[in-house]
Amino acid sequence: MSDCIFCKIVNGDIPAAKVYEDEHVLAFLDISQVTKGHTLVIPKVHKENIFELTPDVASHVFTVVPKIANAIKKQFAPIGLNLLNNNGEQAGQTVFHYHVHLIPRYGKGDGFG
Ligand code: 5GP
Ligand code: ZN
Repeated sequence: MSDCIFCKIVNGDIPAAKVYEDEHVLAFLDISQVTKGHTLVIPKVHKENIFELTPDVASHVFTVVPKIANAIKKQFAPIGLNLLNNNGEQAGQTVFHYHVHLIPRYGKGDGFG
C-alpha cells in the first residue's frame, strides 16, 4: 500500500533499525521504544490487522516472534517480555499494517504497564 508507513519500511523508502529480515517477515525497533529493545515484527505483505491475517502469514510472523524474543533476551537480559497486538482504532491500533510488539520488561518503573 503506497501510503502505509510500514510498507515504506519494507520497500526501503524510509529507514528503520532492522533487527531481522527474511522473505516474508521484517523486524525492526519501534521508533518510540516504551522499553529498551521494543521491537515490531511485521509481515512484508500488507495486511491491515488480525482480521485480514491468513494462516500462512500468521505462521510466518509467529515463526519469527520467538526468535526475536530470544535475541532480545540475549542482548538486553530483560526479566520478562510482553507480546502486544492492537487491532482496530478502538483497540489502540495507530499503524494499520499488522504488527506484533515485543516489549522487554525490566521490572517496576521500566516504562510500560
Ligand atoms: P500500534 O499503536 O499501531 O499498535 O503501534 C504502532 C507502533 O508503530 C507505535 O509503537 C509507534 O511508535 C511505531 N511507529 C510508528 N511509526 C513508525 C516509524 O516510522 N518507524 C518505526 N520504527 N516505528 C514506528
Ligand atoms: Zn503496509
